[in-house]
Amino acid sequence: GSEDEGDFQVGAHQKIATKKKGKPGSFEAFNLSPFLFKNIKKKGYNLPTPIQRKAIPVIMEGFNVIAMARTGSGKTGAFVIPVVERLKTHSTIIGSRCIILSPTREIAMQTANYFRAMTANTDLTFVLIVGGNDMENQFERLVLNPDVIIATPGRLMHCVQETGLSLSAVEMVVYDEADRLFEMGFAEQIKALTDKMPKSRQSLLFSATISSQVRDFALSGIKDYRMLQVDKES
Ligand code: ADP
Ligand code: MG
Repeated sequence: GSEDEGDFQVGAHQKIATKKKGKPGSFEAFNLSPFLFKNIKKKGYNLPTPIQRKAIPVIMEGFNVIAMARTGSGKTGAFVIPVVERLKTHSTIIGSRCIILSPTREIAMQTANYFRAMTANTDLTFVLIVGGNDMENQFERLVLNPDVIIATPGRLMHCVQETGLSLSAVEMVVYDEADRLFEMGFAEQIKALTDKMPKSRQSLLFSATISSQVRDFALSGIKDYRMLQVDKES
């Protein structure tokens, strides 16, 4: 356990560098791209929260995930960080590769701010599609072919219907605050939007609680998922 255990001394002037993995449970241990690691540090985060520690590596490996952790436990980072790591750079593929569904305009805007911070010094792009904003402007920005769409389900469904927005390039979908998504009556829109995405997509569901609606949706709409849970009691 010394400072330089990342290197093996093999001769007076010869060193073989080995992969520095970082302490288990640290951000270093995830082997993130340097830009992303820097953006996390810039945000002032020193250690991942328990749900981030569980979710980030599993999502980076490509698994479907259902993650349950209390409000304030850092769930936004638990999906934004691995989404950014997986997408990494802007793609000229027609169509967005990641959809993040949020229950409210405010949560969508917070997620967008988080996403902006984590993608600093990259060319990854996103569009925010929420109620209350100028709809024409949002439609226009979709033409720019953003890598990520952060949206409330009602407004996104509207865009799909009005503009013929295709979801056929989607590789990852996030259902954030899923208990609230369903409480707010978005079940139909969520199912309709999900049906327009490729079967090969990676599905990520985050929730403070797993209600019966969330459980039913998970069972029918998400296959072979890893269930991750922290803070069971709250
Ligand atoms: P949740 O979605 O679980 O309710 P949030 O993602 O909104 O939680 O995060 C709650 C707060 O914790 C936010 O202020 C966020 O900036 C902060 N936070 C997230 N991850 C970390 C971290 N690794 N270290 C310190 N603070 C963090
Ligand atoms: Mg949240």
